[in-house]
Amino acid sequence: MPFPEITRLSPNCDATVPHERLGVVFHHSVIPFDETIALMTDPARKVSYHCLIALDGTRCTLVPDDHIAWHAGVSSFQGRAGCNAFLLGLSFAGDTYAAPLTEAQLASTIEWLAPRWVRHGWTLAWMTDHRQVAPGRKNDLNPVEWDRVIAPLKARFGEAN
Ligand SMILES: [Zn+2]
Repeated sequence: MPFPEITRLSPNCDATVPHERLGVVFHHSVIPFDETIALMTDPARKVSYHCLIALDGTRCTLVPDDHIAWHAGVSSFQGRAGCNAFLLGLSFAGDTYAAPLTEAQLASTIEWLAPRWVRHGWTLAWMTDHRQVAPGRKNDLNPVEWDRVIAPLKARFGEAN
């Protein structure tokens, strides 16, 4: 059974330039699922992710993949500044320093990634988190939880497979 998926489109995005979709920046939202959706759909906040994953694995699409969500801010990756233009934003509801990611969140991540991995020809080198693209400014994810995200991706999508 796939995890439930809902859509609550956020106005906080840029639809005029096509998204390059070269990979993914993982985030945590600190606050719970419903509160995160409320914040991300508030035009005054000017922030958004492409997708938010609840503790039970339910996914909420906030911005379509072909639009630019405003998730990374001042950031750089693979020698390029401005990650919003070329990396999708996937966030876990909750705070990875306060509680570990749930098994449902990890499984739902694989489910969200799998079709995109094939469609866009992604590699592990293009998976990162907010802490790594905005060092010293952002701390999500907890490095211990980042390892729990990347390990199943290596097993599922790694170069050996
Ligand atoms: Zn973040």
